[in-house]
Amino acid sequence: MTIRAAPASSRVEINLGKIAHNVKELVQFYGSKGIEIMGVTKTVCGDPDIANIFVDNGIRVLADSKIENLKKMHDAGVKAQFVLLRTPALSEVEAVINNADISMNTEIAVIRRLAMIAEAKNMVHQVILMIEMGDLREGILPDNLEVFIQEVLNLKGVSIVGIGANFACFGGVKPSEEKMNRLSELAGFIESEFSLPLIYVSGGNSANYNWFTAVKSTGKINNLRLGESIYLGRETLDRKVIPGLFTDAFTFVSEVIESKIKPSVPYGETGQDAFGNYPQFRDRGMIRRAIVGFGSQDVLVKGLTPELDIEILGSSSDHTILDAGLVDLQVGDEVKFSLDYGALLSVMSSVYITKKYTKVF
Ligand SMILES: *Cc1c(COP(=O)(O)O)cnc(C)c1O
Repeated sequence: MTIRAAPASSRVEINLGKIAHNVKELVQFYGSKGIEIMGVTKTVCGDPDIANIFVDNGIRVLADSKIENLKKMHDAGVKAQFVLLRTPALSEVEAVINNADISMNTEIAVIRRLAMIAEAKNMVHQVILMIEMGDLREGILPDNLEVFIQEVLNLKGVSIVGIGANFACFGGVKPSEEKMNRLSELAGFIESEFSLPLIYVSGGNSANYNWFTAVKSTGKINNLRLGESIYLGRETLDRKVIPGLFTDAFTFVSEVIESKIKPSVPYGETGQDAFGNYPQFRDRGMIRRAIVGFGSQDVLVKGLTPELDIEILGSSSDHTILDAGLVDLQVGDEVKFSLDYGALLSVMSSVYITKKYTKVF
């Protein structure tokens, strides 16, 4: 589908200067206690302009959950090590070998196939083993680790370069000091038991900020995989702003396509709305209702916050309705919104939203 050329009434403005600043600050901050950052690019669909900002500002390893995104960055000439951030599907193993230097893994069947295909190509594919530590998304259970590693070590075609764990993604489980110490211990055990130096001991993601800030020593943890902190300037346990970072590197902008004074409560007999809900409305009398030209097909609307003092009343697939309050919004005016993580993911993934890059603060 090529709709890029058509004018779009909605766009995301990407301030590369602010992203560069956040990258530099975080690389230095985490580097102060020996932690290297993997730049997570899935959030921005492997956008090569953003990836290059990462690389130019001190990140040498880029991680993405989609092979297409790794390939996109590689084809665009981004100079980095590429990590597949999600355990590969059996059906995509060959593409993983061709497009990722390293993949994160939790299943022996997948690693066996990675090894077989890599060996046939005279290659050695690097793997990071993800360990389950309570968030209950991906991971090998610690009790099974010893047997698992022994089996991987017997395979030609793959080499274990690290271990990792993930937190606060599914179960909301915190990367506490206790969890980090446990991961450090496991790393120490693997290194001594198998005489296997681990290049990466990757302790988590943007949720690890509080842990890192509080501890003197990070133990054997030497890596974190950061997305949201870089893009939105926040840690992710409480969504607190990280001091000195920009939270507004991304702005969503859309145009008003209708603006009229209308009642605040729909009139007539009512049934379901577009998404099967029976909507309820508070009567605030007559209001200025402005419609902007995007909807739930384009953006996770609940993740948007208007910059002006106006309120999002709701959306259908391609209309979003605002109560303009005291703001005199007229047709053709542009309305700006800040984005949370879900909104950022959705606008970056939407083919209907133009990406506009700026560099100045
Ligand atoms: C998405 C993801 C990350 C990045 O998380 P942020 O909260 O954006 O920093 C890190 N690790 C894994 C395995 C992920 O899937």
